[in-house]
Amino acid sequence: MIIRDVLAPNPGPFTLSGTRTYLLGRSAVLDPGPAIDSHVEAIRAAMPNLKTILITHRHGDHAPAAVPLKHATGARMIAPPGVLDDEQVDQRVRGGERLDIDGETLEVIATPGHTSEHVCYLTSDGDLFTGDTILGEGTTAIFPPDGNMADYLHSLRTLRSRNPRRIFPAHGPTRDDAVALIDHYIAHRLEREQQIVTALDAGAHTVSSMRQRIYPELDKRLQGAAEVQIVAHLIKLESEGRVDARGGAYFLTPVV
Ligand SMILES: [Zn+2]
Repeated sequence: MIIRDVLAPNPGPFTLSGTRTYLLGRSAVLDPGPAIDSHVEAIRAAMPNLKTILITHRHGDHAPAAVPLKHATGARMIAPPGVLDDEQVDQRVRGGERLDIDGETLEVIATPGHTSEHVCYLTSDGDLFTGDTILGEGTTAIFPPDGNMADYLHSLRTLRSRNPRRIFPAHGPTRDDAVALIDHYIAHRLEREQQIVTALDAGAHTVSSMRQRIYPELDKRLQGAAEVQIVAHLIKLESEGRVDARGGAYFLTPVV
C-alpha cells in the first residue's frame, strides 16, 4: 500500500511539528486532523477519490476534519466508540477487527492508555499507524482519568507482540526501528516509575516534591503536564497495591 502524508498546520508542544494525516493507497485517509480549512483542502487535493476515513481516537488534533471531509465527499467514516457522534460515524470498530481498505487488510488493535478508546491500525506488511500511542520522537502524555498508565503499558506490550516493521505516528517522523522504539517506550515508563518509587522512598510524598526531584530543571510551562504524568504513574502504583494515598500525599506500601 502506498502511504503518503499531509502535515496539518497545528504545531505545538504536544503535536510536535503538527498532526500527520496519512493517505493510504488511492482512497483512504487516517487521522484527518484538525478541521482547519487549508488542511481539509490539502487532503482533498491529494486524495481526490476519498472513500474511507479512519480515526485512531477522539482528540481535537485527530478527528474533527473527518466531518467536513465526509460532508464534501460522502466518504465512509470508521472510528472506535466515543469518537464524534453516532450519526456521523458509519462504522464503529474495536480491537481484533479486520478492515478491507483499498484492497489491503488493516487490522484494528485496541490500545487504551492515551485515551480509553484509542486504536492502532496494522497493515499485513507490518506498517503500524500508532496515532498518539507512540510518537516519532519524545513521549506521549497520559492524562488521567481518561488516560491510564497501566492500560498504556499493556497496550505497548500488545503492539510489541505484533512485531511491526515500521511505525507511522500521528506526530513526528516515520520510524523504521519499530520494535526498538516500542522497547524504548516501555523502558522509559518503567524507569520513570522507578524514579517515583525512589523519590517516595527518599521522603518526597507530594506530587510537586516528586516533580522537583525527577525533573529539576523543567521549564515552568511544562511543570503542570509533568505532574500529571507523575499522578498517572501513582494511580497505577496504587492500583497495584504498591502505593497508598492519604490526604494529598503518597506513601509506599510497606512490603510484608
Ligand atoms: Zn491524543
